[in-house]
Amino acid sequence: MKPTLQRPVAPITGVSTPVVTPIQPSVVYASQSPTALDAQYEGRTQGYTYAREGHPNATVLAQRIDALEGMQGGIVTGSGMSAVAAVLLGLTQTGDHVVGGNQLYGRSLRLMAEDLPRLGVETSLCDATDASEVAKALKPNTKMVLIEVVSNPTIRIADLTGIAELCREKGVLLVVDSTFTTPRAIRPVDHGADIVIQSVTKLLAGHSDATLGWVAATDPALNERMRVFAVTMGLTASPFDCWLAERGLATFDLRFDRTQATAQRLADWLGAQKSVTKVLYPTRPDHPEASRAQSLLQGQGCNMVSFEIEGGRAAADAFAQAASGIAFAPTLGDVGTTLSHPASSSHRALTPEGRAAMGVSEGFFRVSVGLEDPDALIACFNDGLTASQGM
Ligand SMILES: *Cc1c(COP(=O)(O)O)cnc(C)c1O
Repeated sequence: MKPTLQRPVAPITGVSTPVVTPIQPSVVYASQSPTALDAQYEGRTQGYTYAREGHPNATVLAQRIDALEGMQGGIVTGSGMSAVAAVLLGLTQTGDHVVGGNQLYGRSLRLMAEDLPRLGVETSLCDATDASEVAKALKPNTKMVLIEVVSNPTIRIADLTGIAELCREKGVLLVVDSTFTTPRAIRPVDHGADIVIQSVTKLLAGHSDATLGWVAATDPALNERMRVFAVTMGLTASPFDCWLAERGLATFDLRFDRTQATAQRLADWLGAQKSVTKVLYPTRPDHPEASRAQSLLQGQGCNMVSFEIEGGRAAADAFAQAASGIAFAPTLGDVGTTLSHPASSSHRALTPEGRAAMGVSEGFFRVSVGLEDPDALIACFNDGLTASQGM
């Protein structure tokens, strides 16, 4: 866990300087002359021309997240998915092959299953908790491997070290979507990732009021290709959203530490309840990749907990209704705790057998823990469990 500077103050120019970054909503910027514009486009002077190509609030936010991830030259995009698209669509071409973890974020899976094949890019999915499965999925034309360190919604831990070694050996780009882990739990670049993605919408911005993404590559040429693609496709972020995210970042460390401590407590409490048949949390000794989680996350967890209750759909309905202090909403990383039911939301397109193979039953829930008082939160879960077992 690297310490971060919460609010770097800009050098004072003139009489005084604002401590808070100003919001600059201007879409367009006036220049002095055609020659001045030449200098700007040729990179001899630094400035802005048109907001789709870049604006000050996006620059500031990108630099802040670059610093957290230990990277340089990252770009901010209008959503996490547009960051994923900048990588998968911006850096591949017809004839390439892309390997993905089989428990990626739902829309990333859709890009892999529908959009890349439509454009002539082959895709394969495999179990990212096992580097030998990734090795089997590689082909001579494999361009990149996309994984998430902590999988959604089953909280499994990818074999990041093994996959990074494999990718390095084979000259394949390793892309890590680190949304669940955030730079507070792990910096993928320190473990061999070539490209790192964040859905800034989630923990980094943290208040469910801005939709944003960030992506950076270690190779500046790849950053430039993604930047040009994002400008062409209009994957631009709004200045106001960037400003909100920068404000959110000021408390990111505190929110992460507090929510993961509460999540750990909640996981242990759930684990001690008779009607809870399964709890998935990285720091629990019964986690399927407990020792890998310990070495990769260095004893930290995350703010996400998944669990299963007895009683199927009827019990799940009773739980969601009785745990009324918790928003039943399919997002994560908000200041408030949110509860999601993958079988009826993110994973509803799968067959019941497909869901069962992943362990996503009708009694399975995913929780994104927020900043509530831990005792009050556990009392809420207790209400939900009591109601679910009275069915
Ligand atoms: C939410 C999420 C995304 C997509 O981000 P948006 O900002 O909603 O577009 C991508 N990956 C993961 C792991 C996510 O949780």
